[in-house]
Amino acid sequence: MRVLKTASSLPVNKNRKMFIKCVICYIVLELFRAQMIETIFHMFPFFFIAKCVDISLSSCTDVTYTQTMYPNFLDQKSREVIEYSSEYILISVLHNLLQGECNPDLRLLGCSVLAPQCEKDKVIKPCRHVCENLKKNCLSAFDAIDMAWPYFLDCDRFFAGEEEGCFDPLAKLRGEVVVEEDLPSDLPATFIQFKHHSYSQMVSTLKKTASRCSHIATTYSIGRSFEGKDLFVIEFSTKPGHHELLKPEFKYIGNMHGNEVVGKELLIYLAQYLCSEYLLGNPRIQTLINNTRIHLLPSLNPDGYELAAEEGAGYNGWVIGRQTAQNLDLNRNFPDLTSEAYRRAGIRGARLDHIPIPQSYWWGKVAPETKAVMKWMRSIPFVLSASLHGGELVVTYPYDYSRHPMEEKEFSPTPDEKVR
Ligand SMILES: [Zn+2]
Repeated sequence: MRVLKTASSLPVNKNRKMFIKCVICYIVLELFRAQMIETIFHMFPFFFIAKCVDISLSSCTDVTYTQTMYPNFLDQKSREVIEYSSEYILISVLHNLLQGECNPDLRLLGCSVLAPQCEKDKVIKPCRHVCENLKKNCLSAFDAIDMAWPYFLDCDRFFAGEEEGCFDPLAKLRGEVVVEEDLPSDLPATFIQFKHHSYSQMVSTLKKTASRCSHIATTYSIGRSFEGKDLFVIEFSTKPGHHELLKPEFKYIGNMHGNEVVGKELLIYLAQYLCSEYLLGNPRIQTLINNTRIHLLPSLNPDGYELAAEEGAGYNGWVIGRQTAQNLDLNRNFPDLTSEAYRRAGIRGARLDHIPIPQSYWWGKVAPETKAVMKWMRSIPFVLSASLHGGELVVTYPYDYSRHPMEEKEFSPTPDEKVR
């Protein structure tokens, strides 16, 4: 029996054959194209030079540079690959694992390997000495949680020596990223410019001032902010760095509320003024420095300041940057010893000095900035201090809480009430 081909079966078979042919053709073409690209790549490699691209990793938004290049040092070829990698996840959680130790240094170091700096389409390696220093300081924190130093932070493998040209991924934390502004050369050496200072510019100005007056000034850090910025102090005395018996210790703190910037700028200006006037022979300033050890901490809340400064003066509400990066108000974060003193005042024979911090205080969140000031106060016997705020004409003294818990606004004038 002969099977007759129906009218409809003919085109179907034809179509199938055509389809198979097309697929084969497509595969051949693709192979050819890949081969061609490979060949062209080898013939004209300059067409394929990798380019700098913007960094868009959420854990690395605060690095000091803006561009990186793929693949990175771990041969991860795209942002997506990096984001799903165990290395990236690790640097994102290291802060919690190490309970805040070595933060944010380790994360920034990790970013410098996962998203290295790229400039003019050239990738730059992070500095080996920075890696080695951090490893030395942080190994005990890793030991404490039984964890090895991460392989991708191998200082020998992914980092470079200074002679090879490297970048310091932690420069920002030490305030070393400063764009210098050229001033006219005919200005006197004691000229002081009144302007706003970023964190880096502040640190640089304080260090420069201390080196200009190195016989009467020095800088030091009392600790670090939540985001890891050093809390820089400039000190003036005839014996910088040393307490002298019976010489009074004085301190000014500024910018406790990050968005209250006047105190911070005034203290930076005051530091430069003290140095310049001492050099110029101003007798009042010389007497002050010769007889007092003066400590100025212009910014206790540098993280909040940077946040407020980013917003810009005209747009900043009164809350942005007021708190720390941990969302704590430093002005409400110290222990309330005034209420404790009032309570003790009613107890016969109870001491009103050297009141210990109540245990309950430590149950709350204590900011690293607060702890740094408490440690500072324990290490130096300050006799007079002030913290400069902004936005209101008011002076508050110790014991400024109302003695009666029910009467919050009890008027209690100080001897200088008339000065107002
Ligand atoms: Zn304030």
